[in-house]
Amino acid sequence: MKLYNSLTHEKEEFIPHEPGKVKMYTCGPTVYHFAHIGNLRSYIMEDVLEKYLRYAGCDVTRAMNITDVGHLTSDADTGEDKMLKGAKREKKTVMEIARFYTDAFFADCAKLNVKRPDIVVPATDCIADFIKMIEDLLEKDYAYISGGNVYFDTSKLEKYYVFNNFEAEDLEVGVREGVEEDTSKRNKTDFVLWFTKSKFDDQELKWDSPWGVGYPGWHIECSAISVNHLGEYLDIHCGGIDNAFPHHTNEIAQSEAYLGHPWCNYWFHILHLNTSSGKMSKSKGEFLTVSLLEEKGYDPIVYRFFCLQSHYRKSLVFSWEGLDNAVTAYDKLIARIAALNPEDKSTADGEAADALRATFREAMDNDLNTSLGVTALYDVLKASIPDGAKLALLAEFDAVLSLNLLTAAERVREENAAPKADGALTEKIESMIAERAAAKKAKDYARADAIRAELTAMGVTLKDTPTGTEYTIG
Ligand code: AMP
Ligand code: ZN
Repeated sequence: MKLYNSLTHEKEEFIPHEPGKVKMYTCGPTVYHFAHIGNLRSYIMEDVLEKYLRYAGCDVTRAMNITDVGHLTSDADTGEDKMLKGAKREKKTVMEIARFYTDAFFADCAKLNVKRPDIVVPATDCIADFIKMIEDLLEKDYAYISGGNVYFDTSKLEKYYVFNNFEAEDLEVGVREGVEEDTSKRNKTDFVLWFTKSKFDDQELKWDSPWGVGYPGWHIECSAISVNHLGEYLDIHCGGIDNAFPHHTNEIAQSEAYLGHPWCNYWFHILHLNTSSGKMSKSKGEFLTVSLLEEKGYDPIVYRFFCLQSHYRKSLVFSWEGLDNAVTAYDKLIARIAALNPEDKSTADGEAADALRATFREAMDNDLNTSLGVTALYDVLKASIPDGAKLALLAEFDAVLSLNLLTAAERVREENAAPKADGALTEKIESMIAERAAAKKAKDYARADAIRAELTAMGVTLKDTPTGTEYTIG
């Protein structure tokens, strides 16, 4: 498989350290708010990468942190701690906020068929590991104590800006922009490993450390969690492109200084989901969530389909029109799958099936070209092979794409098979459902239950969903 590597700026053959085994790390969410669908674009594309590597026969171990401390509102070391900001907004404790939004994140992932990584670790569970790594960096002279904080000394590195060809000075301006200068740093690009001189007296979470009571910087968590759970050599590190600098740049600085050798060979960065007014971001306040999509009647899987239709290395502009087009295309695709004969038990053997597999693999092997991967589904539908073989291949490719192809088609088949109500009956059922909804809203649960019972007696089964009540007859 060829993957674009942000370290070398080239598409390269992906070769893990140990043949057949892949160690993969993903920067997890900062759990001070719901994930927006931009964040989730990154997790969807990382999920496809993981599943494709498994499909290609690799034994993948993937780890992810949960950022519940240390991420300040500026990715440099200034601003307020995002978790504290969330806690103040909701008048809860930081840990309550962290628990709530961690659960919400995984619930959203489940709706998008994003698999939970094998290892998920909240940063606050690993404070002793961070302290150990920082002590080691101090011992090796890659870190220094100044003004009460511990800093990483970037001047000790041969090359700090590993991801780009920018002139160091240009970037220093970027780092400085709008940011209060920290006079305790020796070099402008140095960053905090451990804070004790917190600007926020009300910082809720603090731990004892050899340098005083304080809390870790954001970057150290990913270095320590990755090295502790995946070992000294990492194969792929993933994240949204905004994480390349300073977060991933600092992760590499810390990890390689600590390990004494190169750490991770491939860096997989996903470009942003933008709105017409720019990058979607949590700090902007107004952002789109999976729940909002559901409230508007969209199946979250359609958003996954929307993401897979474009390449991860191109920024993607979200629009409702674009999502509606994805709904139309997805529904048509599912209708075509529903038209296949599910009773045909032919298997996907032989040359024709292998050629279709080769088309799918060629697309995905070429830097995870998911839109061509989706096109391969239509190739299967068009092919001159029995329906059973088509269904088997679709199931196989869907182990990677996770678009619920077969279950959605089965639902369409059931709906088509269900006896159709005549117009007058439909009107009656729908008006009873509306009356039940009004009764529930007015907290008249006895009336709501009575209407449900009446409908049941008529052979109508109700299902309450986040987007309203659905029903089946007979
Ligand atoms: P955060 O919760 O802010 O730590 O971000 C979680 C992940 O989402 C990181 O990998 C970010 O790089 C990524 N991310 C943030 N904004 C976007 C966006 N608009 N589009 C795609 N990925 C994003
Ligand atoms: Zn990270």
